[in-house]
Amino acid sequence: MSNLINRRHQLLVALLLVVSIIGMGTTVKRVVAQDDPVTELVTTSEEDLNAFWSQTFTDEKLGDYKPPSAVTAYEGETPMDTPCGETEAENAFFCPEDKAIYYDTTWFAQEYDKSQNNGYSVVGIIAHEWGHYIQDLLDQKLQLSEGHYSIEIELQADCLAGNFTRYLYDGNGSLEITADDLKEGMNSFFDIGDDENTKWDDPDAHGSSAQRSQAFLMGYNQSVAVCLDTSRIAEIANVEGEPAATEAVPAN
Ligand SMILES: [Zn+2]
Repeated sequence: MSNLINRRHQLLVALLLVVSIIGMGTTVKRVVAQDDPVTELVTTSEEDLNAFWSQTFTDEKLGDYKPPSAVTAYEGETPMDTPCGETEAENAFFCPEDKAIYYDTTWFAQEYDKSQNNGYSVVGIIAHEWGHYIQDLLDQKLQLSEGHYSIEIELQADCLAGNFTRYLYDGNGSLEITADDLKEGMNSFFDIGDDENTKWDDPDAHGSSAQRSQAFLMGYNQSVAVCLDTSRIAEIANVEGEPAATEAVPAN
């Protein structure tokens, strides 16, 4: 008798455990889906970026497209080890070592909360980092590792983000971008450009706000092929600041 009660008790405990595990699983899932709009926004951006780039690789005959290995969130204040070094607060980056994109989720949440619209700046940052991934995939074609400056690589990533943004604006993705989103995104990305003393060949140069806007809009208004034409990017890179070495040397 007592054995039976014991067994029943054990069975009940086991059953409760299963129920509570299932319950926990369901709760966690629901929290992510409903209470974390940033994770949802990043996930939808990933889907749209993969769809856009997969189609573009086919259309432009760029070879086989494959998605980045991962898009990984980290907490800004808690440095995380990656093959490209420790993560930093208020940053997002593409790591060529493991072909993954990393982003500070705390920073993204702040950007999202600041937004008066749909949080497009988060989408734009991911699209820019994806641009670096595309550069890595196409490295042999673009030969970016040979003779190109940081500013060109950054401006090209802005241009590629512009291509993708147009795709969204035209209603081809799951994410909806309005004119207000676009205006807000442009302001938040390009308000802070390099200061006027930054030399064009500075390894940290990203471009002035005028150059960054110009590169983004070139991508927005023109084809991916235009962004991939490194001579077009080089032209923008020289719009402000000192001219490139080839132009600085007087013709003789
Ligand atoms: Zn960049």
